[in-house]
Amino acid sequence: MVVAVDGPAAAGKTTTCLALAGTFGLKYLESGRTYRLLAFEALRRSVSVDDESAVVSLCEELIESSRTAGLLEVDRHDAGDLRSRAVNVAVSAVAKFPELRRRVTELVRVWAGAQGRCVVEGRDIGTVVFPAAPVKFYLTATPEARAARRVVQERAGSYEDVLRDVMRRDEADMSRTASPLVPADDAVVIDTTDLAVTQVVDLMASLCRRRGVAIP
Ligand code: C5P
Repeated sequence: MVVAVDGPAAAGKTTTCLALAGTFGLKYLESGRTYRLLAFEALRRSVSVDDESAVVSLCEELIESSRTAGLLEVDRHDAGDLRSRAVNVAVSAVAKFPELRRRVTELVRVWAGAQGRCVVEGRDIGTVVFPAAPVKFYLTATPEARAARRVVQERAGSYEDVLRDVMRRDEADMSRTASPLVPADDAVVIDTTDLAVTQVVDLMASLCRRRGVAIP
């Protein structure tokens, strides 16, 4: 049983997923961290992020050395490493490679199969990774609202820089050929621009209940 939560950068996915995970006793996975880890390791090892076969080899090596699911649990890197400006740029390059996506998709499916009940956030969770998920959300907000939140949450630099990065990543994620960011046909789209976190979580939780996600 998977709750799929997709949407552009800084739309509130992580905050709301963690709240749902707490309410419904779901395991939580942030699939973006895996793409970020791959970008981070490519930069660290001077692997060109534009070279698909080199990045895929790196991914395979990391999967091998982390015994599969370990690659999803990237606690050994602190969040700062994975959220640097360099990683923000490199991740858009690596995430567009179909072969890499195929491997990450497989890892996420194996992980979810072992959890039973979970909430997974990303860009292609409801469209590609779990197209049959019984509950799907697509969270969005204006780029300006998302950038403003990110500046407050992460002290992530100037508003102008963050807004530019948010818009650049939107464009990269939405225009790539492999698993572009689009709402699944059956996703509930929530525009969070003018909503408080609690309002968004309430909307999501009520749909989860209606779709039969039990509270333990
Ligand atoms: O969620 P987060 O913003 O950390 O994701 C970083 C990047 O990873 C996204 O901009 C996107 O390019 C990529 N990503 C993806 N598919 C996912 C999750 C993240 O392509 N399921």
